[in-house]
Amino acid sequence: MDLGHRKADASNDHAHRAIDDAADRIGPALIALSQKIHANPEVGFSETKASTWLSDALEAGGFDVERGIGGLSTAFRATRRGIAPGPTVAVLAEYDALPDLGHACGHNVIATCGIGAGLAIVESMVDFDGRLEVIGTPAEEGGGGKIILARRGVFDDVDAAIMMHPSVKAMTRRGSLASGRVEVTFHGRAAHAAGSPDQGINALESVIAMFNGVNARRLHFRSDARVHGIITHGGDAVNIIPARAACTWSVRAKDRTYQRTLVSVLREVAESAARMTGSTLEWRETRGYDNMVPSPAIAATCSAHLAAHGLEDFVPAPDERMGSTDMGDISQMMPALHVYLPIAAEGTAGHSIAFREASSSPGADAVVVLGAKVLARTAADLLRVPGLLAGAVAEHQEMVQAGTVAGRQGWRVESSRHE
Ligand SMILES: [Zn+2]
Ligand SMILES: [Zn+2]
Repeated sequence: MDLGHRKADASNDHAHRAIDDAADRIGPALIALSQKIHANPEVGFSETKASTWLSDALEAGGFDVERGIGGLSTAFRATRRGIAPGPTVAVLAEYDALPDLGHACGHNVIATCGIGAGLAIVESMVDFDGRLEVIGTPAEEGGGGKIILARRGVFDDVDAAIMMHPSVKAMTRRGSLASGRVEVTFHGRAAHAAGSPDQGINALESVIAMFNGVNARRLHFRSDARVHGIITHGGDAVNIIPARAACTWSVRAKDRTYQRTLVSVLREVAESAARMTGSTLEWRETRGYDNMVPSPAIAATCSAHLAAHGLEDFVPAPDERMGSTDMGDISQMMPALHVYLPIAAEGTAGHSIAFREASSSPGADAVVVLGAKVLARTAADLLRVPGLLAGAVAEHQEMVQAGTVAGRQGWRVESSRHE
């Protein structure tokens, strides 16, 4: 990696001002695009309109755009080369909506902040070495678009990746939960439930025993554990002993190691529940998303830019409420930032009608421009401030040594376990 040593901090103030001015100039167009994506919600892998509009805007703004990368037709990569060879910094954009709910996660804001950051850097004429990329990553809501793209090599040359997500307050250091799913099916034997129950093996009783068994262990789970199940099949008719019964579990925790411990507890309980009735067990595991580990160096840089725009960077509480995101997987591979910016009042739940309304509110429009500035300044610093990116990479390698993150190689091995 060539890190370039031309830019001093003094010229950086000028660069930051130029970026802010550029973002203000393109702001109305970004806001219009955010509103257009919000009004045209498309679920994961079918974000045809959004990916086209975003790609068109990047192309018009001076980027070379590849459409349909990594085998995903709604993914794209826009590249702008600097004045000399150097590292690659990527700003990521999500633009998928939720089934039925529309843009209730505010990905229209993520998309326009992401492309706005790239466009503001080009428009500001701030020079840099290396490559600036804006990568369009489909299907965050359950499809794991970033994981698919990473497996297919899209992130191989990327040294650091950053993005924003709308929320109720600004946070650069909030993580996310490692997740996974288990589908459990018990197979018994059908028999007349009144005439010959002695001939049957009741698979439903195993499902019930599994729920009771998991609850018996629940007190002993760590407080960050989230283990929640539903019964997906409970039998076919009340006069037949259920020959097949099934349940699905979501298993989450702050780190993958503990998430796997929880999965092995579920496996023990399921095997015991099968033995209790004499049924047999069918077990299917899917990996879900890794936990997000924010890069301390990039978070600190972003935090300074939040402060410059009058925003307090809240420190996440030890029991901070969290979901899961495929950006977690990216953070296992390289230094990454997933900064939250406020568009809704505190207490507003994500994936709700209230959050969908907030995502097209004047507050969200303001955050489209603010987020573009903050991400653009952070990306520009990573490409221009001597030692910043190298420091973030070194810090990430220390986290790999400490087992806090998997690293590129470890992630590849780990992520192929269940595919
Ligand atoms: Zn969401
Ligand atoms: Zn989201």
